[in-house]
Amino acid sequence: MVAAKPAGMSEPEPPEPPESAAEDSGRVMPAITAGDDGRVTPAMAQYIEIKAANPDCLLFYRMGDFYEMFFEDAEVASRALGITLTKRGKYLGRDVPLCGVPVIRAEEYLHKLIALGHRVAVCEQLEDPAEAKKRGSKSVVRRDVVRLVTPGTLTEDTLLDATRNNYLMAVARAKASDKDDSRFALAWIDISTGEFRIAECDRAGLSAEIARIEPGEIIVSDALYADGDLVQLWRALPAVTPLARDAFDGATAERRLSDFFAIATADSFGTLTRLELTAAAACVTYVERTQLGKRPPLSPPQREGNGTSMAIDQATRANLELMRTLGGERRGSLIAAIDRTVTSAGSRLLAQRLAAPLTEVETITRRHDAVAALVADATLRAELRDMLNAAPDLARALARIAVGRAGPRDLAGVRDGLIAAGGIAQRLAVLRKAPAEMADAASACRKPDPSLSAELAHALADDLPVMKRDGGFVRAGYDKSLDEARALRDESRRVIAALQARYADETGIRTLKIRHNNVLGYFVEVTAQHGDRLMAAPLNATFIHRQTLAGQVRFTSTELGELESKIASAAERALGLELDIFERLAGAVIAQGGEIKQTAEALAVLDVAAGLATLAAERDFVRPTVDASMAFVIEGGRHPVVEQALARDGTPFVANDCDLSAPDSKDGDANGGRIWLLTGPNMAGKSTFLRQNALIAVLAQAGSFVPARRAHIGVVDRLFSRVGAADDLARGRSTFMVEMVETAAILNQAGERALVILDEIGRGTATFDGLSIAWATIEHLHAANRCRALFATHYHELTALSARLPRLHNATVRVKEWHGEVVFLHEVVPGAADRSYGIQVAKLAGLPASVIERAQEVLAKLEAEDRATPKGFDDLPLFAAPVARKATPAADDPLEKVVSALAALNPDEMSPREAMEALYALKGKLSAPK
Ligand code: ADP
Ligand code: MG
Repeated sequence: MVAAKPAGMSEPEPPEPPESAAEDSGRVMPAITAGDDGRVTPAMAQYIEIKAANPDCLLFYRMGDFYEMFFEDAEVASRALGITLTKRGKYLGRDVPLCGVPVIRAEEYLHKLIALGHRVAVCEQLEDPAEAKKRGSKSVVRRDVVRLVTPGTLTEDTLLDATRNNYLMAVARAKASDKDDSRFALAWIDISTGEFRIAECDRAGLSAEIARIEPGEIIVSDALYADGDLVQLWRALPAVTPLARDAFDGATAERRLSDFFAIATADSFGTLTRLELTAAAACVTYVERTQLGKRPPLSPPQREGNGTSMAIDQATRANLELMRTLGGERRGSLIAAIDRTVTSAGSRLLAQRLAAPLTEVETITRRHDAVAALVADATLRAELRDMLNAAPDLARALARIAVGRAGPRDLAGVRDGLIAAGGIAQRLAVLRKAPAEMADAASACRKPDPSLSAELAHALADDLPVMKRDGGFVRAGYDKSLDEARALRDESRRVIAALQARYADETGIRTLKIRHNNVLGYFVEVTAQHGDRLMAAPLNATFIHRQTLAGQVRFTSTELGELESKIASAAERALGLELDIFERLAGAVIAQGGEIKQTAEALAVLDVAAGLATLAAERDFVRPTVDASMAFVIEGGRHPVVEQALARDGTPFVANDCDLSAPDSKDGDANGGRIWLLTGPNMAGKSTFLRQNALIAVLAQAGSFVPARRAHIGVVDRLFSRVGAADDLARGRSTFMVEMVETAAILNQAGERALVILDEIGRGTATFDGLSIAWATIEHLHAANRCRALFATHYHELTALSARLPRLHNATVRVKEWHGEVVFLHEVVPGAADRSYGIQVAKLAGLPASVIERAQEVLAKLEAEDRATPKGFDDLPLFAAPVARKATPAADDPLEKVVSALAALNPDEMSPREAMEALYALKGKLSAPK
């Protein structure tokens, strides 16, 4: 059965003639379908039964070297994968559609199908076809589904992003009479790394939690899936799988969980609530179902304490571009700018930390301590990173080994990871005073028994095949019986080479070859012209005809047949021994799974610390002070992403200070935070300044150093960032309504410890509405939320508010006018912008000189009128005077029309495209008939 390759025959094979392509490529055409009479073959019956058990999956039905799909599955898959749809026989009088993918390329196709949101059931042959035959000529090969492939339960490197976790999340709800009082438990697992976490939240926090964790797949009960209140949420998420109630049955949850971990009770999980147990049990039940009972090495569920991390909602995450840009790319995001890790596990951990900055000062300090130690010791840092570089993805290799999906390279991964960890532990042991985080990591690295890595190093060959069934991965000399079986196999192959030479001699056919393929096994092959000679006496006594092709004739012989079975049994024995060794080594790895997992985590922790230290050294970041005060003092702060982007063109970034601490104390106390109202023309750097301060808070609390000269941050428990609609309109995401809904969320939720960033809120509507909304928003932030906030606006009128609101501070981004041109200094200074420089910016954008000149005239006129009608911003209502100005009658003169159209324009609010259109419209008015 084993198809040993004829290694002795080194001449290149001529391309196989296309005699029966299906056969030669290993595609066994199914005897699956029935005849016109409606008779159902046993194979068909088997297919239908298996398919019926997995109705919501595409069924990959193994037949020889292919996974075949039938009926609707075939149609769906052929469309999704762009592969040919064929027909095979009939079922109930109709053609049966069929398409197949070769087993060796299955992962690639799986990847596409999963990405498109499909689920796939992989059905394998559980016995050799020869065995089935023994039961009778009509019997079918036993088959069954060995695994369901779903987006949240992947383990293969080819299907996973190395730098990101792939979580499966279960959401369970305890319904309250008032739906807003419902509690939710979330449990999430990465089966490729073993992480398992639990958290609770309320309805308001649900989508923020999902946004933070970004699961690859969410499972919910049917009932929750259909709940009217949540339908919108589910629909907006990529992969939500509803499950029948039993998976979310609270009564059996604890038992299912303890069964999975093979322990007596779930008591050891701490005091999980029934709701948390329900979510956690749903996760493991789903894992068992999709892995068909195989158990990946999960850590016991860890509860994430409420309020231990900074709450950041989805809009804020998107807006601050923490993990990806608004365009959806990693490049240009904060994570991309700060990730200097050298391992995939480190990269994943950094992403986790950035997604959930901490609120506990102690843990934050612990992380800063490790980074500081590695900033201070450049040699240690470099050595550590070198050693980490040699450590492969230990967690994922371990997971594949545990679910029986590993290859020899996964064993090698464990070997190399453990060797690296051993070296690192040794290196750290010589430190006199290692910070706690590093000391803990070092002791985790010492946990696995060193004899395991020694054994793996001893057993594994230097060059490893991807699949264990390819054999050849055990080092010669490791196992005596294996060496013997291999010697026998190789010896027989030499004998075949000798036989070929002898046959060539005996027949006088110099081109006679002994070849091998999967269908015929070994055979003698001669060109067509010599075929007749072998088929005639006397040679036909030796050679038995097997096959005639267009150019060749193939034979076998008794001697060849005997040799073949000798080779096959030696090769089979060798492979069998290798597979035994594989299982034994895998077993040894699994036995130390817990220690290996801790080691993997420790390596990731060290990688993150060393990566952040590298970043700090390279980009001149400082250690922030994070404490329980209400301070927010940033001196010489920079935007970590913009700075790097500018550095690429050699442009320096202008550092800026920011102080949102309560005004009446040094570095702040609990009197309510300060609000900075930032004015300045478009392009001055307002948005950049706002975001850099939010990002500095995120970085500091995630455990990183920060791009500033000095930073003192009293823990921020909640971060909000919103942008006025105009910035987002181009992407078709935001409308004024969304902007207002989001602003409402902030005003309702932000407490004293929140940090709020509002960028041009109120821009998405008419000027006076917008100004009024902005006005009232600032008053509310000041009086009710009392949080630290930054508010950028182009409404200069708002600066008047500082006279009444003691904690409102006006700041502006400096610009210089030089020969009528505006020069952006990007420098944030106290005070208000004197004007908006809209016309100067328009000039920079290339508006024609005549339009600019005319606009200046109009502006002068409008400003004169404005001065004539004093504004009473201190006494609401505010806008009587400006509204009256609107009523100025417009003459019929085209020039006047242009003037009034121009006056109505607000260049600050226009995209380049809108500016162009406006310009055409203006020209149109000039030439229009009276
Ligand atoms: P605004 O929000 O005021 O319109 P942005 O924050 O969008 O301005 O900044 C416009 C551009 O100015 C940015 O793309 C950036 O290239 C540059 N910029 C902003 N702030 C700085 C700074 N502090 N130093 C250097 N360049 C800056
Ligand atoms: Mg802006």
